[in-house]
Amino acid sequence: MSSPSRLSQFAGLSQLGIHLLAVSKGQPASEIRSLFIEGQIDFGESRLQEALTKFDVLNDLQEIRWHFIGRLQANKVRGVVKSFDVIHSVDSIKLAKRISRIAGEENKMPLIMFQVKFRKDDKKTGFEVDELLEAWTKLITLPNVRICGLMTIPPAGLDRHGTKNLFKECRNLADQLSLQDCSMGMSRDWEDAIEAGATWIRLGSILFGERHK
Ligand SMILES: *Cc1c(COP(=O)(O)O)cnc(C)c1O
Repeated sequence: MSSPSRLSQFAGLSQLGIHLLAVSKGQPASEIRSLFIEGQIDFGESRLQEALTKFDVLNDLQEIRWHFIGRLQANKVRGVVKSFDVIHSVDSIKLAKRISRIAGEENKMPLIMFQVKFRKDDKKTGFEVDELLEAWTKLITLPNVRICGLMTIPPAGLDRHGTKNLFKECRNLADQLSLQDCSMGMSRDWEDAIEAGATWIRLGSILFGERHK
């Protein structure tokens, strides 16, 4: 068994209501299995096709929970709804409606988070804050999803101070909407995310090393 030390620095977080999502995109199934054996339950993938090949190999790990964190195309929704427990990256009203409809057809009730852009960022999808607020009364009536929080990714190049402020804005908006979860913070900024009130930190390279592709 490999050293448990890579998880030990996060061991106290769950008592604080903070969950560690191990982002396993670009990592082989064998790496996921060994981290699972060390005690990690929640894993994040950003591409359906890549994830499906791993699910096949790992289907004996019954406790494992899969989180979808990537851009979700309309034609991949059914596959994601069938195999993932949580979707962090719901970035439009249209997508939210589609997830709810397909979840109904598949007898599922996924946990979902809305991805929000707190700064202008042409490289990323996501709701503008105003857009989310405007759609809110409609979104909360979607029958087959459980809305649990907001997710955000700071724009590339934002400095530390700006990133901290952005994380706080995410926490404040989640509180305003009475949502428990904020999925924010990656390998480089997870400590600041926790300080601002993250409940899910999404860590890839700090756990697995550099990605294989
Ligand atoms: C890849 C990825 C991560 C993990 O990034 P690291 O810098 O390796 O920790 C977290 N969140 C999302 C949405 C990602 O795509």
